[in-house]
Formats: sequence, structure tokens, C-alpha cells
Amino acid sequence: MVTDHLGRQFKTLRLSVSPECNFACTYCVDVKDKDIHTGHHKTLEPNQFCDLVSRIHDVVNLESVRLTGGEPLLYKPVTRLVSLLRELGIPKVKLTTNGSLLAYKAKSLKDSGLEFINVSLDALDPDVFRRVTPRGHLDKVLKGIDTAIEIGLKVKINCMVMKGVNESQILPLLRFAGDRGITIRFLELMKMGYLYHDFASYLFSEEDILNEIAKGYSFVSLKRKESSTARYWETMDHIRFGIIANDSSPFCSDCNRLRLSHDGKIYGCLSVNQGFSLIESNESPLGTECILMKAMGQKQDNHFVGSPLSMKAIGG
Ligand code: SAM
Ligand code: SF4
Repeated sequence: MVTDHLGRQFKTLRLSVSPECNFACTYCVDVKDKDIHTGHHKTLEPNQFCDLVSRIHDVVNLESVRLTGGEPLLYKPVTRLVSLLRELGIPKVKLTTNGSLLAYKAKSLKDSGLEFINVSLDALDPDVFRRVTPRGHLDKVLKGIDTAIEIGLKVKINCMVMKGVNESQILPLLRFAGDRGITIRFLELMKMGYLYHDFASYLFSEEDILNEIAKGYSFVSLKRKESSTARYWETMDHIRFGIIANDSSPFCSDCNRLRLSHDGKIYGCLSVNQGFSLIESNESPLGTECILMKAMGQKQDNHFVGSPLSMKAIGG
């Protein structure tokens, strides 16, 4: 069992299948970075990812694996990877996507064993959407969400709120989620990537988000589940919403997340810019445990301290 002085264990794995992305959200990547247009990164094959996940699963008995990136739906064999993970006995396989390719891929993802999908949607107003995501396509994302709901995937929406950019979209997005009977989570900006030094000027806090929602709804808070990144509330007409408030309500103290990058490196925390290669480590359970113990040592006790590494690179 891999555990630390706070009793934390690894139970959920976030697997970043590729750092490539077809969007360029302003909070995630610097559009001046040439790599976002030309990046071709060597990434592992589904069976190679599965071998690594299997080694981890044997040691920590994972409860879920979430595929992320970059944009995971750009990874061509994504459905094959989902099937292999299910065959491995991972109880829940989930995915986070920008939604641009979801309308095409939702059915094959569901058929391969995916049940849960989070779609990032930061605005409904086309002009605001373009400000947040200049290379994005709002109509495709909306079609992706509705297709995923129609075929029975369990969909949640993630909305990253940036002060002065898209806070006007909080209430329309809450109504959009309510109309579809799905949960939406609002995210506080994390101190990461090229905004590492500048994040405070864009931070729209948990309190700010609640104040904005209070302009349209009355709501009550729900009990937080252990190890959950989000705290949840419910409006009087039963719209459930969450806030992932990394800065205002840090959740490091019972964090159970582990990250595996596209090139087979393990990270125990987004705050630490250095991974440990699982591929190059000894393949025995003891060798795997040793790497996982090092990753556990990267976790922060209470508060996320941030990193200049972009979410897109490490897998958000
Ligand atoms: N491309 C996919 C997407 O956008 O959903 C998956 C990867 S993306 C890095 C995963 C999540 O990280 C998204 O919901 C995005 O809003 C969030 N994210 C990116 N940069 C962030 C930041 N600096 N702070 C908080 N969340 C961030
Ligand atoms: Fe791409 Fe997701 Fe980052 Fe947006 S948040 S640039 S969609 S990786």
C-alpha cells in the first residue's frame, strides 16, 4: 500500500494521452507559443499505456482512470485505449474533452466502455467564447454535448471562469446545464503555465462565483465527498453545480490523484514540474511502488503552490 503521513493513497489516475490540442484556451496556452501550432509529440500506444496502468493498478487498486490531455479525442486510438482499460478491470473509465470532436466520437466511446465525460465549455455567447478560446468552435462543442447526452453518457460541464473575461456566462451556463439535467462545475483559475506570475489578476474566486449565481438563484450547499476536488450546491429548482476552488478551498489534504503523462512519466502533484519515468523503472511491483512513493512525496500538505508547467503539457 502506498500511503503518506496524511493517510493519502492513490485511487484515481489521470492519464494524459497527448499534449497536443486543437484549441488554445487563453488560460491554458500562450498563443505566442509556436509549439501549439507545430507540436508533434511522441506518445505511447494503447497497449503501452495499458501495461503502465496495469502496473499501477496492481499496486494501488485504482478506482478510476480519466483520459485527458491536451485534447484526448485527437489521440486516434482513444476508443481502443478505453476498451483495454475496461478489460484490465478499471471500474470507471472517464474522459475530459474540449468537445470539438465529441459529436463524431461519442457513440464509439460509449460502445468501448466509457461512461463518464466532462466537457469544457466556458461561454455560450459566441463573442465571449472566441475571447476565451480563439481557435475553438462553439457550435461543435454544443453539438458534442447534446450527442453525448442523447446516447447516454454521463456528462458534466467544466467552466473555467476568468475575471474580466467570461464571468457574464456563469448564469447562462447554469441554466444551460439545468435545462439538460446535468451538473456543471465552475473552476477557479489555477496558478499554472504562462499565467503563473499573473494568475491573481484573472482569479474569479469561489465567493465571486457564488455571488454571481445568487443574482439568479437561491441554493443550498451539499456535503463534500472525501477526496472530491469540487464542493457542490443545489438550487431550489434542483440544478446541481460545483466549484473547484483550488485557491479559496484547497483540497490537497485528501487528494488521491496520480498523473501519468503521454511519455510514461508519473507526477504526484501539478505543483511539481518533474516526473518520474515509469517506463525506465524496474517493472517489478517493488520497482513500481518505489516510483509511486516518490510521486506521493510531491504532494503538498495543504495548499497548491502552482507551477509554470502548462495544464496542456501535464494533463489537466
Ligand atoms: N483539452 C481538454 C479540455 O479542455 O477539457 C482536456 C485537458 S484540459 C487541460 C482539462 C481541464 O483543465 C479543462 O477543463 C480546463 O478548463 C482546465 N484548465 C486548463 N488550464 C487551467 C488553469 N490554469 N486553471 C484551472 N483549470 C485549467
Ligand atoms: Fe486545449 Fe484543453 Fe488547454 Fe483548452 S484547456 S487549450 S482545450 S488542453
